[in-house]
Amino acid sequence: MKPILAPALALASSAFIAAGAGAQQALDTARIVNADKEPQNWLSYGRTYDEQRFSTLTKINDGNVRNLGLAWYFDTNTTRGLEATPIVVDGVIYTTGSWSVVWAIDARTGKQLWMYDPQVPKSWGVKACCDVVNRGVAVYQGKVFVGTLDGRLVALDAASGKPAWEVNTIDRDKPYTITGAPRVVKGKVLIGNGGAEFGVRGYVSAYDAATGQQAWRFYTVPGDPSKPQASAALTKAAQTWKGEWWKIGGGGTVWDSMAYDAELDLLYIGVGNGSPWNRDIRSPGGGDNLYLSSIVALRPDSGEYVWHYQTTPGETWDYTATQHIMLADLSIGGQVRKVLMQAPKNGFFYVLDRATGKFISAQPYVKVNWATHIDPATGRPVETADEQYRKKEKLTFPSPYGGHNWHPMAFNPKAGLVYIPALDLPLLYKNPESFKYVPNAWNTGVDLVAAMPPSGMPQVLDRKLAALLAKGHLSAWDPVRQKEVWRVQHTGPWNGGVLSTAGNLVFQGTADGRLAAYRADSGAPLWETPTQTGIIAPPVTYQVDGEQYVAVMAGWGGAFALAAGGAAQFAQKGPGGRLLVYKLGGTAQLPPFQRPARQLSPQPQTANEATLKKGYEQYHTFCAACHGATAISGSMLPDLRYMSPATQTAFDKIVLEGVYKETGMVGFGHLLTKADADAIRAYLNKRAHDQLAEDQGGWWQAIKDFFYSIAAQALKLLLSLKS
Ligand code: CA
Repeated sequence: MKPILAPALALASSAFIAAGAGAQQALDTARIVNADKEPQNWLSYGRTYDEQRFSTLTKINDGNVRNLGLAWYFDTNTTRGLEATPIVVDGVIYTTGSWSVVWAIDARTGKQLWMYDPQVPKSWGVKACCDVVNRGVAVYQGKVFVGTLDGRLVALDAASGKPAWEVNTIDRDKPYTITGAPRVVKGKVLIGNGGAEFGVRGYVSAYDAATGQQAWRFYTVPGDPSKPQASAALTKAAQTWKGEWWKIGGGGTVWDSMAYDAELDLLYIGVGNGSPWNRDIRSPGGGDNLYLSSIVALRPDSGEYVWHYQTTPGETWDYTATQHIMLADLSIGGQVRKVLMQAPKNGFFYVLDRATGKFISAQPYVKVNWATHIDPATGRPVETADEQYRKKEKLTFPSPYGGHNWHPMAFNPKAGLVYIPALDLPLLYKNPESFKYVPNAWNTGVDLVAAMPPSGMPQVLDRKLAALLAKGHLSAWDPVRQKEVWRVQHTGPWNGGVLSTAGNLVFQGTADGRLAAYRADSGAPLWETPTQTGIIAPPVTYQVDGEQYVAVMAGWGGAFALAAGGAAQFAQKGPGGRLLVYKLGGTAQLPPFQRPARQLSPQPQTANEATLKKGYEQYHTFCAACHGATAISGSMLPDLRYMSPATQTAFDKIVLEGVYKETGMVGFGHLLTKADADAIRAYLNKRAHDQLAEDQGGWWQAIKDFFYSIAAQALKLLLSLKS
């Protein structure tokens, strides 16, 4: 990049925006294809179309990273999860926060240039399985593109932030959401959606970047087989389904990953889980259920199917293949192969031939007990011989959170390593007694209440057991030898996405509120700094005026934070989300933060055991996905054990009538009776008493804690025998 003359630094922000906008106009496919020629920028989601998240910048390196300090921070004024990858184009950062809000920010100073709020109705939040998050924008020819939580695709003028066009991408009567970042390939904006926990049919759509005109749509699962299918690929796929899946939707949402190979002109999409999860309910009698849990290669101009590889045939565990898709050229067996790499939820790390979709290799990167291995002859998993959870419940590794979720990996070609933000936790899967589809509710076909600790289990034991069962680590994986080279063990799961650089560095934020740098080749810890809040987003790096920066969206949240309860207790819940930007010798400071004190105000306990049990079941059916398992909130959403007396008085109005729906808490009066609400309140009141007893326990509690720790260890051992 040319050095900017001193007078240019004094430019007023409007002139600066205009200068930036000229450069944004020129941001086209050729520039993104050749992104390595301008390492100062971060032009697309994975930096390059191959999504390697590897920066060739070296000013910050393994020799000086210890001098990294905060350059500036930007408050997003949100308390929900932040997952975005900031896009950096010629001195301007474009990023997003919760509820799909977009900002343009001066990359030198952190000054806001513009903000755009798409005004997502807060009541849409209840349709989001996994928090009201957004993973970022795409920038192309003077426009910034964002997918909104409520299913719109909006093009903004890059200079002003004013909408240029907007299209609706979904059936608004169905519980679709968009959380993924759009990609732009050859003038078309590509966007998928989510919703397969609730009951939808997945697809990816392409829109003309200039006009918003829809160019094509590729459905990932077949529709009603009595009608013609949308493509020959779907006619073929329909033969792998049974029953009446289309009435619920079938699933297969394309909610996150895409990659593009310009030379082969192939667009790769990652396809999600079945809807419902349980295949015996979704497709009674079996079948592979294409193209669930598959990587599908399409022509970006037409959406035409080219090949697919299914990671989990007949998936029945929420094992999506929507995880990060990364392209690289690797020397395997003395031959340079054009490969595609993925660590999907099912726990195996895959290397495929990306020209043909042919299987090259796969090995488990975390503990896996649903399959023994992938048969190299067929490329199919060999499932364990225990009928999975069909006849009796099974503690299964990985859980629906996956061995790896959406958190991006990174590849360092110099070290030859892929860095995986890995998750180590199981779920007890159990068939439900019966299944009834409930519109706009969770429809997994798995008895998730059975996966919870028993209703009578002491809270402290539940917390200790959760902490023992739920772990996470950063794995440096050799994709050629298919084995781990080093790992960093973290306090718990759900840590940040990863960045690697030619400075022999790997950056990752952690759930317990740190941003850290490690040596890319050895994993040796080199630097870390406290961030006040847990980090889930991936860092990026860029350079302006010769200064290299590392930037990350810091804001704890997402699926695990919302739902995991005691297992998420270790995480840092900070003052609210921020964009944090670091440089060598940075001296900025975060303002001091003191977590506000909370008060337990339980009512006298009068409910009988039957009511408490009913409250436990209803809470875990309707409330726990957002407020946390066993009423322990691991996210920034209210911990209901700490309800104020005023909230307790208004409980029915909130829970049944939805008086707080403008905050995102909708009413559940169509699903719950007054007696149900009473039972839930009684259960929450009991949990408040449990916590109060713990807080006031003194030395007696300390002794109990010790014995509960031993009991939790014993329980973990018992559970591991069941897995
Ligand atoms: Ca899912």
